[in-house]
Amino acid sequence: MSRYTGPVCKRCRREGQKLFLKGAKCYTEKCPVERRQYPPGQHGPASVRRRKQSAYSVQLREKQKVKRIYGLHEKQFRNLFEYAASRPGVTGQNLVIALETRLDNVVFRLGFAASRRQARQLVRHRHVQVDGSLVDIPSYRVSAGQEIALREGSRELDIVAASLGARTRPPLMEWLALDEKSRVGRIVRDPERGEIPLPAQEQLIVELYSK
Ligand code: SF4
Repeated sequence: MSRYTGPVCKRCRREGQKLFLKGAKCYTEKCPVERRQYPPGQHGPASVRRRKQSAYSVQLREKQKVKRIYGLHEKQFRNLFEYAASRPGVTGQNLVIALETRLDNVVFRLGFAASRRQARQLVRHRHVQVDGSLVDIPSYRVSAGQEIALREGSRELDIVAASLGARTRPPLMEWLALDEKSRVGRIVRDPERGEIPLPAQEQLIVELYSK
């Protein structure tokens, strides 16, 4: 499946907020969202002055934002939504938890990669093991009790060391455990919505897809 290879900062500018798509660089370089507070493109500055957004537009933007944060295509996102809707409980919360327990996201949360994009590459390039077996599917869903580790030959990769040693690295989430030296992480328990730092109102996505 093709992946977006254009300038990622445009995606943040389109959503009007920092989505931290470049990992540590988002803290060090001058962020375009801060310098140009209008959407990209020829009509970007004018669109800021335009009329109020419709309810549909607000819902759509919320969905696009979450999709971009996790780096998913529309079809993947839609499939995940269908899965969330089929589960017991609140669909919006199920959706966020399903996004959060993707293997690429967990590799990112453990600190093995500086961004989800980099984490996806680690998985795709067969550096990651789940319970001792190589898994190269970024969307693989991990669950409580599983062990996520880097393959023996991959533990000293420069990008892993740089990410783990980064000053801007966020604290480890409570539902994860990590042995940094041996590059082994574990899912202690399923995450709860309240502890997932996702700046989005998932209810708007549910409303959009329920139309
Ligand atoms: Fe987004 Fe980071 Fe680029 Fe800022 S520097 S626009 S947060 S990707």
